[in-house]
Amino acid sequence: MNAVQLLKFLVSIPSVSGDEATIADNLSGILVEEGFRIRREGNIIWCTLGKRERPHLLLLSHLDTVPPCAGWKSDPFKSQVEDGKLIGLGANDAKGSVAGMIVAAREIQHENFEGSITFAFVADEERGGEGIRTIKPNLGQIDAALVGEPTSLQVCTAQRGLLVLRCTAHGKATHAAHARLGENAIHKAARDISRLTVMEFEAHDDLGATRAQVTQITGGLMRNQVPDRCDFFVDLRTTPNLDHGTVAAEIGTRLESEVAVHSHRYEPVATNASELVVRAALEAADASAGVGSVTTSDWAFLKGIPAVKVGPGNTNRSHRPNEYLLLSELAAGVAFYSRFVHTYFRMAAEEVVHA
Ligand SMILES: [Zn+2]
Repeated sequence: MNAVQLLKFLVSIPSVSGDEATIADNLSGILVEEGFRIRREGNIIWCTLGKRERPHLLLLSHLDTVPPCAGWKSDPFKSQVEDGKLIGLGANDAKGSVAGMIVAAREIQHENFEGSITFAFVADEERGGEGIRTIKPNLGQIDAALVGEPTSLQVCTAQRGLLVLRCTAHGKATHAAHARLGENAIHKAARDISRLTVMEFEAHDDLGATRAQVTQITGGLMRNQVPDRCDFFVDLRTTPNLDHGTVAAEIGTRLESEVAVHSHRYEPVATNASELVVRAALEAADASAGVGSVTTSDWAFLKGIPAVKVGPGNTNRSHRPNEYLLLSELAAGVAFYSRFVHTYFRMAAEEVVHA
């Protein structure tokens, strides 16, 4: 199968998060047939190529998709090619990256390179990153990683994280006609929400400022009762210069409501421009500088490993109806991954020589 056939095949197998067994079975079959020695845990597949252990490069992407949303003009689970586009759920996010990596893996399968490379295709990326977190302990020491997500082949060197806070305003219930005898929890929450909307955090060079967004609110039982409780969630797309614990604590001291951390595991991440993986990716992409990315990914779970996020397709088409990948983008993605792998190991070898 060439890259287009492979992507069509992958898109035609439904793989909404939690339901990746069929795609994992099929992809395992293809890879084994092509001579790859794969390992599998649940619906996660990975294989390692190379003769020497280090440097060890990880190329990672995901097999799962979000569920189809409303507005599809065609069957989201049937891939079709039209006007140079391959349309179907997951074509852009992130099966184009998966197909590109597999074609690149084929190319280097029988090559001699100084180091090792692991290709990993995980499940459950869209639902919490259980996939990468499950296999990471089995991958051994990783020197660098590339995460395949639609970035228009721009080299992302910084990625926002996600901190979710659950806030509870406590009050005192009373008849609305005797409001002075109670304490209105919704009013308290409203004051806190006003505080949150103007709160400023230290800006990041590539990603800019972090803002708090109140995304859900519940409170009040009766139309004629002063409410004694109001709960609201705060979503913060954090930058790598901010620490989740510090941000949560700071918000806690500024609000009247009780503040609890609901989710903090999507850490913001960034890789220094001097790292080999960044230099190799920039050379392979023929770009001069990295960019920041506002969407989180499995990179969040690779904190401490020099990594970049690069893949074919456009992030604006993800999680939307009529998702597609241009065939030209797929071809460029295949070429990029192949160039990147070769450039990385060439540069790594040069550094050893010069060391
Ligand atoms: Zn994705």
